[in-house]
Amino acid sequence: MDHSELRARLAPLPKVELHQHVDGSIPAEVTWELMRKNRLQPVDSLDELRRRLEIQPGEEGSLLAYLDKMHYPLWITQFYENIVRVTEAILTTAAAAGVRTLELRYSPVIHTFAGLTPRQSIRAVLSGMNHAKKRHPEMKLGLIVIAMRQHGPHIAKILARQAIAEAQHLHARTGVVGFDIAGPERGNPPRLFKSAYEIARLGRLGLTAHAGEEGPPDYIWQAIDTLGVTRVGHGCAAVKDKELMRRLARDKVLVECCLSSNAHTGAVKPGERHPIHAFLEAGIPVALCTDNTTVSRTSALEEAVRAAELLGADAVEQIHAGAGEWSFIRPETALPEGFDD
Ligand SMILES: [Zn+2]
Repeated sequence: MDHSELRARLAPLPKVELHQHVDGSIPAEVTWELMRKNRLQPVDSLDELRRRLEIQPGEEGSLLAYLDKMHYPLWITQFYENIVRVTEAILTTAAAAGVRTLELRYSPVIHTFAGLTPRQSIRAVLSGMNHAKKRHPEMKLGLIVIAMRQHGPHIAKILARQAIAEAQHLHARTGVVGFDIAGPERGNPPRLFKSAYEIARLGRLGLTAHAGEEGPPDYIWQAIDTLGVTRVGHGCAAVKDKELMRRLARDKVLVECCLSSNAHTGAVKPGERHPIHAFLEAGIPVALCTDNTTVSRTSALEEAVRAAELLGADAVEQIHAGAGEWSFIRPETALPEGFDD
């Protein structure tokens, strides 16, 4: 099957998106619109802005260049109504790509520079998700709160408590379903965040962690053994450690695989076989995720096609059919509609 045949086949496939960041997924048009509304115009045209927001040829292969793309969206996402707006736009785009289960993730603290509290910052995203849910009742939605590693373990503990306060199972609306750490791995090993994860676990949040994207296999071990995660973000380094591969398979720890992003950040080098092959061969569960649809110029559909070109369309259909089991969204724990309106 060629690219367009794969697209046609995979377009209607109900997709499970378990790893997508708000900041890196805001459509460029929406960032441009809000920049103008707030009289913030770092560049003269939408095309120019798009070049700053999306990874360009020649910029691929460096995590720092990749993370730098998150800089401009932060100008506009310091305001409650803008956060609501961008979240709705992300959900509309995801729905069009066939996503039916969507866990967005978001670091509340980096949206507080204009005076929002972390709690308001979380509520803004949830508000956008709840608005979008009215237009897309078929979608299952949840939010994963991210603590940035560079802010240290204490801020992470505060965030875990804030996240619990908005936990899905305590509200009748879309809420927080999970907890994560992200940001520069080296020098910030997962074990430092043990207490924050313990708080999140006691609050019945699902646990995942960015690990093994640029960090060593040991960080993935720590995420599993010390933090108690049931999913790992990227996890590319696991292929260097046979014992770890056996552990991921034995305990059915799911790896959130982001094919385009891994090429863009250099987590997987040009010409290198993507670890997803080894994960599947070892019986490790995987999900296909976009990471950042704008930065990586992709969508859940494009990632499905990219994966199908490597693994075949049948395998992609199986991955999406199975990944829902690892979702942190647990409707059975949600309160009835109208309970806390
Ligand atoms: Zn990520």
